[in-house]
Amino acid sequence: MTTKIHALDALKFDNSFIRELPADSETHNACRQVLGACYSAVLPTETRQARRVIFAPEVAHLLDLSEAVCHSEDFTQVFSGNRLADGMESYATCYGGHQFGQWAGQLGDGRAINLGEVINQRQQRWALQLKGSGKTPYSRRSDGLAVLRSSVREFLCSEAMHHLGVPTTRALSLTLTGDNVLRDMFYDGNPKHEQGAVVCRVTPTFTRFGHFQILTARNDIPLLKKLVDFTIRTHFPHLGEPSPAIYLQWFGEICKLTAEMVVHWQRVGFVHGVMNTDNMSIMGLTIDYGPYGWLENFDSNWTPNTTDAEDRRYRFGNQPAVAFWNLAQLANAIYPLIPETQLLQETLQHHYNQTLQHDLHVMKAEKLGLPDVQMATDEALLSDLETLLQIVETDMTIFYRQLANVDMSVNIDTVEIERWLQPLSAAYYLPEQLDDAYQHRRFDWLKSYARRLHQNGITETDRTRRMNAVNPNYVLRNYLAQLAIDDAEQGDFTEIHRLLDVLRQPYCEQTGKQNYAAKRPDWARQRAGCSMLSCSS
Ligand code: AMP
Ligand code: MG
Repeated sequence: MTTKIHALDALKFDNSFIRELPADSETHNACRQVLGACYSAVLPTETRQARRVIFAPEVAHLLDLSEAVCHSEDFTQVFSGNRLADGMESYATCYGGHQFGQWAGQLGDGRAINLGEVINQRQQRWALQLKGSGKTPYSRRSDGLAVLRSSVREFLCSEAMHHLGVPTTRALSLTLTGDNVLRDMFYDGNPKHEQGAVVCRVTPTFTRFGHFQILTARNDIPLLKKLVDFTIRTHFPHLGEPSPAIYLQWFGEICKLTAEMVVHWQRVGFVHGVMNTDNMSIMGLTIDYGPYGWLENFDSNWTPNTTDAEDRRYRFGNQPAVAFWNLAQLANAIYPLIPETQLLQETLQHHYNQTLQHDLHVMKAEKLGLPDVQMATDEALLSDLETLLQIVETDMTIFYRQLANVDMSVNIDTVEIERWLQPLSAAYYLPEQLDDAYQHRRFDWLKSYARRLHQNGITETDRTRRMNAVNPNYVLRNYLAQLAIDDAEQGDFTEIHRLLDVLRQPYCEQTGKQNYAAKRPDWARQRAGCSMLSCSS
């Protein structure tokens, strides 16, 4: 039985990260290289006129907070960074990372300020972090702030991902600061004032691959060992007492968790956009929602990030390969503790590549309602479908949802094709592309699909149920987020609330909400924020 907490000062904190790990000896808030330490104490910047936009009751529940406290003025003050509640200690952590494949040196929490770790009544540990609450020693040349549009995107997407069943950091609240922030959205010399905002993120730990990388890059092996031991004891206690053998097992688990996360991304059509090693969570959680996007027309080359438009390193189809590359960088970082290249490589191969290959196939089969994968025959079925989805502009989400509505029990040789395939028509962006060649190809594929279903005696009810459990009806389409942002920038937050509500049950058909499952309207094709995003946030 949990009792609700009615005052933020009653939250129970156990700030293990700063208790167990060394602090920066300097305390002034100025940019610097922080050596021999994992974090720097720093206070959030006070805001002029904080105003709550939204909170997520499900996340408040994780912290045992009552709804009433979430509606209080104190909640707005604390989660916009104006007051530290009892037990909170604020700090920014030091990490490095590879950005777009290049080692970038020290990065760190440049605009994230941690508030400590809550222990809830179920003894779960939840770290709290404000994003956009001002400069820290890691801010480099930037202001430490975040704007409303990117904060709405982070808030909504973290919660949408959670409800889709994708491992992710969570978002407790979104607050306007009342201060203006200058941003050059497309880096084209047209900076504009935008409204500042703060999101409070919640997750077991914010530790990233880059936290380990920076220590190895600086050859601070004693501190590397300390951080690894701390991470295993606190967040992977089931592995047992740290030792070189346990380090290897730990790495194997990170590989597995990362593979599972990426498979979920591919299942729902999520493109992270900036898979730098500083944006990779040690717990295999989706973290740092920046210029991410959702696939509308299925295109494995698509990336929402205009900063990556040329190389497309972080394109949809490349996410599994990039995760592997990032894990290899993590392996390099922990190598001084496990000086066995061979074992690290085998672990990476076994726990990442093999898990990934297997889980990707299972996931693709599940999207078709198949209870298992029969490699010999299914390989072609699955890859032919991907080709089919790309030769004409096809909305991925709608296609899978509507395929469940195509009656596969009909006699294909006698069926009236146009009527039979009517459900699929909602998935196509350019009906003029559906020429005879395409229609033949689609028919052939459907024949193989039907054969596979009949051979295995999969009933229609069973197929539909399976498919609708893994193929979402509602995802945070880029243009839907942008419409909510447009309203929010005018001070109207109802669309943010409405969207969160719809995204709570992504696998259901919700009455009156069909417009949230519709394909991208034409106006959104080239509009900033809908199809193109930059890192500016
Ligand atoms: P990202 O690409 O958002 O993952 O950010 C990469 C690094 O830049 C991280 O260390 C961030 O903390 C930092 N950063 C991004 N935006 C800002 C900002 N407005 N002010 C300070 N640091 C920032
Ligand atoms: Mg980041």
